[in-house]
Amino acid sequence: MNVNGERLKAHIEALAKIGADPEGGVTRYCFTPEYEEAALLISGWMRDAGLTPRRDAAGNLIGRKEGTDPSRKAIAIGSHFDTVKRAGQFDGCFGVLGAIEIVQTLAENGVEMKWPLEVPCFVEEEGTRFGAGLLGSKAFAGKIDGNYLRKTKDLEGKPIADTYVQYGYDPDRIVEARRSPDELEAYFEMHIEQASVLDTYGEQLGIVEGIAGYVWLKAVFEGRADHAGATPMDLRNDAIIPASMMVPQAEKIALDMGKPLVITVGRMLISPGNINVVPGRVEMYFDIRDLSMDRVREAQSRRARGVLRDAYRAGERSGHVRRAARHRGGHRGLRLAQGGVRGPRGPRRRDTDGS
Ligand SMILES: [Zn+2]
Repeated sequence: MNVNGERLKAHIEALAKIGADPEGGVTRYCFTPEYEEAALLISGWMRDAGLTPRRDAAGNLIGRKEGTDPSRKAIAIGSHFDTVKRAGQFDGCFGVLGAIEIVQTLAENGVEMKWPLEVPCFVEEEGTRFGAGLLGSKAFAGKIDGNYLRKTKDLEGKPIADTYVQYGYDPDRIVEARRSPDELEAYFEMHIEQASVLDTYGEQLGIVEGIAGYVWLKAVFEGRADHAGATPMDLRNDAIIPASMMVPQAEKIALDMGKPLVITVGRMLISPGNINVVPGRVEMYFDIRDLSMDRVREAQSRRARGVLRDAYRAGERSGHVRRAARHRGGHRGLRLAQGGVRGPRGPRRRDTDGS
């Protein structure tokens, strides 16, 4: 039995037109007219496949087809159709439309399942509308209530609950979106890979073994800003020297610890940030991820501290600390700080991000 690839492709392309961003890609946040238009289109495809669509109290769109054995729990296959800004057309949408395609293919081949089939489409999975990723799936799992919606502000500082009311939902009824484990046999999700591993190794399919945990660390190096022309090299206390030495060190930790651990230095703020000024302060950020939080913690604590020390000593060896101390009274030297960092959506320690 094969799914109809042409039909699936046509559905993916039709959905990508809703919220098509003039600058390229698709921008379709939940609780917007585009999202509701997409929900209508998907609901139609659900009906074609024999599913009955409904919106739950959280705003999740859920299609369901009863099975032949009423005593069976449902098998759910779903994903999301909200997007990040200028998203690709497959993220989430392939999971939703692929699931509908499976149900339709089963029906067209006369396969009657004993189990009810459900296709849940989780609202605000990406967190781009409210800054509250996984909102719909959290409601599905019974993790949030009306107070959460009132307390949590969206990106404009407005309580999420206000938007729920505006769209005709009762925030307090979000608890009704909770699904009991007694109702569900299993949940499957197909998702586009967000990197190029499958393509690189020529694989058709990968099975997710887990979701990476991660921490963000911040290191601050304080030296002294000086004129780039007038300050000789031996009188500088240049914060960029030890900071930049940490980058290859971070790569070395990741390579030494091995896959799937990854470390990224994606943000480095240099002050004052002028071409003709010796950097007086560097703030840098490390993103450390692994399937095992123990390994993340190991990289974070033991190894990362080692790297921080190494970088500090490298700064000392290169003479920046010592010379500056000798020539200028009261300089602060290189200061290292380390700890969890607040991301745009609050603390990120031991958390996972949306996909
Ligand atoms: Zn996704």
